[in-house]
Amino acid sequence: MKRAWLFLAALPLVAQNVKVQIRTGAGVEVAALPLEQYVAAVLAGESSVFQSDEALKAMAVAARTYALRMRGRHAKDGFDLCDTTHCQRIELENIAPRLRAAAGETDGELLWYRGRLAFTPYTRNCGGRTEDAAALWPDLAAPYLKSRDDPYCARSAWQWSGDPRRILRALGESGLRAPEGLDAVAIARRTASGRAAILDLEGAGGSARISADSFRFAVGRRLGWNTLPSDRYRVGEANGRIVFEGEGSGHGVGLCQDGAERMGLDGRNYREILAFYYPGTVAGVTARGISWRQLRGESIAMFTTEPDSDRRVLAAAERMEQRISERTQWPAPRQIELRVYPDLDTFRNATGEPGWVAAYTTGDTIHLQPVRVLRAKGTLERTVEHEMAHVFIESQAGPARLPLWFEEGLASYLEGGAGGGAARIPGEADLRETSDPARARRAYAQAQAEVGWLARRYGEAAVFDWVKRGLPAEVASASASHAAPKSK
Ligand SMILES: [Zn+2]
Ligand SMILES: [Zn+2]
Repeated sequence: MKRAWLFLAALPLVAQNVKVQIRTGAGVEVAALPLEQYVAAVLAGESSVFQSDEALKAMAVAARTYALRMRGRHAKDGFDLCDTTHCQRIELENIAPRLRAAAGETDGELLWYRGRLAFTPYTRNCGGRTEDAAALWPDLAAPYLKSRDDPYCARSAWQWSGDPRRILRALGESGLRAPEGLDAVAIARRTASGRAAILDLEGAGGSARISADSFRFAVGRRLGWNTLPSDRYRVGEANGRIVFEGEGSGHGVGLCQDGAERMGLDGRNYREILAFYYPGTVAGVTARGISWRQLRGESIAMFTTEPDSDRRVLAAAERMEQRISERTQWPAPRQIELRVYPDLDTFRNATGEPGWVAAYTTGDTIHLQPVRVLRAKGTLERTVEHEMAHVFIESQAGPARLPLWFEEGLASYLEGGAGGGAARIPGEADLRETSDPARARRAYAQAQAEVGWLARRYGEAAVFDWVKRGLPAEVASASASHAAPKSK
């Protein structure tokens, strides 16, 4: 991740990475993931079988919105979200390019309801009718999560017949009350969508009343989570067994994944899919529902919400691109994307960067704070040119990993010259500093002066060449003595 710093900006610091609990072979750890990486990992964990790219994009928006709305639900355990279906299932190691693309193409887009982030649960298969949110979350005011018919999802019918003794054992293990001997299960109450809500367990020793939800959970825990895929069922008895016949899989609230897939395969776009499952919500990168507009330059694509006023920045960026290309003799990278965020909150949400970071670059994409903010700080041109330099450096980099100080110093050198102040190799921790802007700024200035000094000593063309070949031994060894992490 590459950053440029807003000089003298004293904006409040809000950490926007998502802190996720991750289970690995080695145990449990907490990692701070950039939001878009998290979204792609959710797609890998929850929707990797989707064939429709539009359905994937709908899921990306739902997963992103869910994450930001629910962020901090595990705060007392020291992280935002867990990696299981309790929050959203993630698989970091299985992020295929098309999943990353689905996240990228909806970058930062969220669902809003009356200016607030919507609550966006989703379900494997609703069985033909979605559930009302009130059935699971009675206190939630979410009129966009009313029960409705879903003509798109193929009703996945299922059947399970259970031995009463095994069911009783499962209930007992979960500490649930049950009669001695189980003769029948009756549905005492159904939800608005017709799903079982309350069950009466009838047996020789009387009867017990429990929620269908805890019944399904107890059976799932003991006999496998797919035993009773949903609460949408009828129940009877045959040959001494309790027989459940039902449809669907999951709680049924919100976006139905099988239905969304069908809509996508039928040619509907992700906005239409979201509008169907979360009716009344507005999709956009801000609460006002603002959407990206794409401007195409000669070699740069700009995504902005204010195309008329930002058009000039695109033209300036293309001139910078040409300038860097001529100076370094590097061909311009093919597809540079410049994304200009409409406000600071949106920038923070999308990039996970604090407000005093002016821009950041991943691969060929430059994420930029609002143009008017950068212009007011007098840093617009420098910021764009610095990030542009990063895209060039990244496109030229060879197999050897370049130290961070060299990449940052060279980007600053290309944009601002040799700089002033002491030339020295700053520590990596200083360059990565996110809570102390002054410390980070100092490290950047040192890196810039260091590259300036190297350019005087070895010649500028030689320094440019190191991007491909790696640093010469004497520079690398000086660098290595600084790269060691500081002990705490
Ligand atoms: Zn959780
Ligand atoms: Zn459905």
